Amino acid sequence: MTENEVLRRTWADISLDAVEYNFRQIRAAAGPAKVMAVVKADAYGHGDRMMAPFLESVGADWFGVSNLEEALGIRESGVTKPILIFGSTPPEYAYELAKWDITQACYSLDYAKELSAAAVKLGAVLNVHLKFDTGMGRIGFVVTDDCFDTALAEAKEAVSLPGIRVTGTFTHFSVADEASEESVAYTKMQFDRFTRICAAMKAAGIDPGIRHCCNSAGLMCYPEMRLDMVRPGIILYGLYPADNEFVTSKIKLSPVMEMRTVVTMVKPLAAGSTVSYGRRYTAPEDEIIASTAVGYADGYHRLLTNRGRMIVRGQYAKVAGSVCMDQTMLEVTDIPGVKEGDRVTVFGRDGDAFISADEVAALAGTINYEVVCAMSRRVPRCYYYQGENIHNFDYLRWKEK
Ligand SMILES: *Cc1c(COP(=O)(O)O)cnc(C)c1O
Repeated sequence: MTENEVLRRTWADISLDAVEYNFRQIRAAAGPAKVMAVVKADAYGHGDRMMAPFLESVGADWFGVSNLEEALGIRESGVTKPILIFGSTPPEYAYELAKWDITQACYSLDYAKELSAAAVKLGAVLNVHLKFDTGMGRIGFVVTDDCFDTALAEAKEAVSLPGIRVTGTFTHFSVADEASEESVAYTKMQFDRFTRICAAMKAAGIDPGIRHCCNSAGLMCYPEMRLDMVRPGIILYGLYPADNEFVTSKIKLSPVMEMRTVVTMVKPLAAGSTVSYGRRYTAPEDEIIASTAVGYADGYHRLLTNRGRMIVRGQYAKVAGSVCMDQTMLEVTDIPGVKEGDRVTVFGRDGDAFISADEVAALAGTINYEVVCAMSRRVPRCYYYQGENIHNFDYLRWKEK
């Protein structure tokens, strides 16, 4: 195999043209606000080492990740724009934060003190964004109505600590993708708490820095809430944060990832015979069964047993029997000419046929986010740009150069 070659057993085709298109839509929707491209979880399974530098090249202003290793990974891939870690980094890693100029979420007074002490020991100053919990119920200085004054007092104290510099302030919405009256009211309440705490900081002589609260749904559905920066994740990858009109009607997106596999064997199955573990599929009549090379270890969820479908030769074929670790069988009786080596689309487009990540998610009882994030390391990522296969990435054979 040459360096850029990967085994075409099961793989993901990723369109950078689609990423560029989505980014431009988002940039237009964001107005004057900066755009932080959220590339956590390996860019939602799309490969952060490719996605982050590409998004920087098309104009992303910031990057959002969940942890230090993701931040270091995208720095290594050449990203020079600021990076914010949303989650917690143990203060022992203050040196890495400082050395690689990574901004850390600061979410409680205790944590602020620990970070401050670690930074002072190093003689470094760490950039942080204060994270307020306005109703999500996870990390953040709690800004419920009862705790407003405490949150303000704690934020003030955090800001005054040596070794940390507050360059931004943020919060996160929990139901910005839901259209119900209750959810809309909740999002507005979260936004109100956030803008009030930012204003109170200002009034107390503290600069909140860059204020940001909108995830994908927030920036699409609540333009008035974009503030200084927005944090789109899922829509960069061409998927909507929810499958409802409230979000899908706002901007047009182009899906980025398609998952493929191949037919490994075709065989007749006599009426009454069974397929796969647990014998969950029994042929009602004489049928043709195609084995494919994708399984749950690739990220094709086992809940798709007897429920999912794939595309073979431009036609839909239903999953027959249990999804195995490395193989899944399809019933292809009515699809003429299926043979070993045929390309199969697990989700994505093939001719006029299309299976969305949302369809796969719905059948597996989850959300599209999980379908793309679940794509495992065993699945090479193949990148296309302007009609060319510009790069392939194989996690199993990847080595530091
Ligand atoms: C994941 C995440 C986002 C992006 O959310 P999407 O719904 O994918 O747009 C934004 N902000 C924070 C803090 C996140 O954790």
